[in-house]
Amino acid sequence: MKRNETRKVKVGNLIIGGNEHIFIQSMCTYKTSNLKLLLQQIKDLELAGCEIIRVSIVDDADIKALHSIIKSTKMPVVADIHFDYTLALKAIESGVAAVRVNPGNLGDISNFEKVILCAKKQKCAIRIGLNTGSFTNPTVKALLDSAENYLKLAKKLHFNDLVLSFKSSDIKTTIKVNELAAKRFDYPLHLGLTEAGDISSSLIRSTLALGPLLNKGLGNTIRISITGDPLQEISACKELLSDLGLLKDSIRIISCPTCGRSQVNVLEIVDKLKPELSKIKKGLTVAIMGCPVNGPGEAKAADIGIAGGKNNFVLFIKGKVVGTYSSQEISQVLLNKIQEL
Ligand code: SF4
Repeated sequence: MKRNETRKVKVGNLIIGGNEHIFIQSMCTYKTSNLKLLLQQIKDLELAGCEIIRVSIVDDADIKALHSIIKSTKMPVVADIHFDYTLALKAIESGVAAVRVNPGNLGDISNFEKVILCAKKQKCAIRIGLNTGSFTNPTVKALLDSAENYLKLAKKLHFNDLVLSFKSSDIKTTIKVNELAAKRFDYPLHLGLTEAGDISSSLIRSTLALGPLLNKGLGNTIRISITGDPLQEISACKELLSDLGLLKDSIRIISCPTCGRSQVNVLEIVDKLKPELSKIKKGLTVAIMGCPVNGPGEAKAADIGIAGGKNNFVLFIKGKVVGTYSSQEISQVLLNKIQEL
């Protein structure tokens, strides 16, 4: 699938846009100055496959924490700032890779100008993030016209290190505004649905909104926001990209829902393996199936798969049976074999 061409924008050690890779990002849920919890969360997210991390900056204590945060991770750190442009200046001077601002809530437009000039001096990128929630008249046209005004100012100041995001909690609006934005502007787009809900709601809504856009070649970074542990956001992004053929080095698990025919515990194996497999960078399909009805077919078609029998599993690798293992040993055997592939 051909990706929409955009400018290339350097964000920390990453080049966003202008290539095939779609970067996964998430946002920390702890207050930024709560360093102990925050650093652990960043470490966990990075290990799970997060590539860009955003933190909220609400006061000087958060600014003070930025130095340790930037030092702790290879991921570009994006500072999310609202209302107080001076915090954006301080975050940029602290060395963040990007700031995410909505210029409309920074007060006078001259404040956004100061942020641009500071970012230009420090070689920091800016994400202009426009959400329908912060518009009194949140039409698609209003969002796009507003972006155009901010981009004109940036252009006047010869600043191009910009990423754009247009978010809504409404699926159709999110699709429409991003489709039109891609036609009107050539900056990379960050895709996401805002206020998407808890895991079950967000997975459905985000897939409905982001799937068609990604399928049309749009989007350079994504976030699937979930009310809950942000680690879930990473596996959701990976699954979405992987299922659309846009992520080559992640493991795709297919597993059956089980039914009265199954004499093994499929859920236990999926639960045990999923976190482990998410850390492995390989483009493989793994089938975990409950019985001999559909099990052998799916397991054979996958790169590696297991089909349940009577308290045991037949293991298939690249379509061939390689052995039968007990329910107790199968998870470890499967993990070892995947690591060897
Ligand atoms: S593979 Fe077997 S256990 Fe799984 S849903 Fe199909 S029939 Fe049921």
